[in-house]
Amino acid sequence: RTITSQTIAFMSLYDFMFTVESSSLDQPWFVDSATGRSVTGRAIKARSDALAQGLWSLLELGAIASTLKSHEDCGIRDVVGVVSPNSLDFGTVVWASHKLGCTVASINGGSTADELKHQFSLSGTRSVFAHIETLEAVIRAAEQCNIPPSRIVVISDMEDLVLPPEYQTMGILTVEAVIRLGEEEMSSAPPINVHSQFGPIAFLCFSSGTTGLPKAVIIPHSSIIANVTQLKTASVPTGQAAPGDRALGIIPFSHMFGLVTLVHLCPHLGVATVAFKSMPPFKYFLETIVRLRIGHLFLVPPLVNAFVKHPATPDFDLEFLRSAMIAAAPLDAEMESAFRRIGGEEFLVTQGFGMTECGGLITGLPMGSEPRPGSVGQLLLSTEAKIVDEHGVVLPPGQRGHLCVRGPQLCIGYLANAQATADAFDVDGFLLTGDIAVMTAEGYYIIVDRLKYMIKNKGYQVSPAELEAHLLSLDIIDDAGVIGKPDDRCGEVPVAFVVLSASGLLQATQGLESVKDSIMLSVQETKSNYKWLHNVHFVQAIPRLPSGKIIAKRLKAMLEGAKAGD
Ligand code: AMP
Repeated sequence: RTITSQTIAFMSLYDFMFTVESSSLDQPWFVDSATGRSVTGRAIKARSDALAQGLWSLLELGAIASTLKSHEDCGIRDVVGVVSPNSLDFGTVVWASHKLGCTVASINGGSTADELKHQFSLSGTRSVFAHIETLEAVIRAAEQCNIPPSRIVVISDMEDLVLPPEYQTMGILTVEAVIRLGEEEMSSAPPINVHSQFGPIAFLCFSSGTTGLPKAVIIPHSSIIANVTQLKTASVPTGQAAPGDRALGIIPFSHMFGLVTLVHLCPHLGVATVAFKSMPPFKYFLETIVRLRIGHLFLVPPLVNAFVKHPATPDFDLEFLRSAMIAAAPLDAEMESAFRRIGGEEFLVTQGFGMTECGGLITGLPMGSEPRPGSVGQLLLSTEAKIVDEHGVVLPPGQRGHLCVRGPQLCIGYLANAQATADAFDVDGFLLTGDIAVMTAEGYYIIVDRLKYMIKNKGYQVSPAELEAHLLSLDIIDDAGVIGKPDDRCGEVPVAFVVLSASGLLQATQGLESVKDSIMLSVQETKSNYKWLHNVHFVQAIPRLPSGKIIAKRLKAMLEGAKAGD
């Protein structure tokens, strides 16, 4: 059995999700962790159909085709941005958009107005679904991107929500469509064949890849369908799951890991994703997991740490846990094994290697293979990998080298960035992950280091280039380099090295601490909190190669030196 892009290319995620067996469709697909409110697959289908109708008139899709050349080139019809924390409505917005052949720009709900502006313009977003909590930032960014208020749709559970008349809510957009057309017509119209002329692209996600600034990653419907299909042949979570089970929806739906597993895989299995809008206090979090019998966990390493180390964990009986998949950042074998012991005999734990550009996960625990703590498991069905040296020569098992992967789940490339796309793949179509790995003789992969210039804070990507560009825009700074500092709680946190300009030096005569504070504050005002600097070091020069590339290793050594001198 193999899965290729060819075998799945002619299906949209709308069709993939709603043609599941009725035993899954009748199960709750999403549950609100705070209120316990749930919504079945069938109800989500009805809402998606109605919302598609509302969206159809809102977007005037009949009148417009792609407005951007780059979009036309890769078959994007129109881009709908979704800016939301995890919510019961996320899937509805996605699949309604897909029904119309639109592409969804999947944007982190915690983004600042500055970041949103960048993501809207990078993706060519023309309309936005904004959760009420993100509305202020969305409005500010939309103003600068020519997105009129009439094309901002507010997601909110609040019944008594009062908004200025120029904005509409998702509820009203949906209800008005139902009134206009009647329930009957809802599922048949509008008459769009997703793949006939437009719309093979399901998502634009954001990642800096192995270098540079965040870019829009092009994810076709076939990527997600392939990855869900691959994960359905794995023992975590599929082998451990039964319809009616529940999964932990704490990692962001907007990030590739959550998008594949929590938004698409779990509903497909009839497993309800319990959506957490934000991280509650840990004891309450555990109480909720126990009360709602959430048996399948999808975690990033800092959460695994919290489970193992929090003093409240032993107070809870977690015998009912069935599976856990951990991805997005490194986790060592000891911590993984300690985590495995919080559950009962049946609790199956694995790490998976994933990457936005991979369209989901590359490795996991194929049915029948044993977990190997500290490794990211084995390759999923129909996925290939090779580990190569600096000349591209394939290395034998046991030797560390650059991990390169290929499979039907991979992205197509970066939107409107042919150079970055060309650089991301080798001549045989393998994606260069930018990670250093070893494969054991039994086919388990262990991620041992990162080649690329990227920081992972709590599993979130921080692009050093993005922070460096911001620092260089300040007139008190002449040069800057940003690296990750190991951190027990977060994995890594960003710290900066800066060379002050003449005006910076002048300001420093008032005290270096205040210069440091003003630099850190300027990042806090414009960037999401996981990008905030944890320290600023003042240096004479940033070590660079003749090409201008920052020598991150030297900065790391300087950090060690600074620590020793503390
Ligand atoms: P993202 O695109 O945000 O998912 O980030 C992908 C990167 O996260 C990978 O290239 C790795 O550097 C890192 N990563 C993902 N999963 C793992 C894992 N299980 N172990 C170590 N690093 C990982």
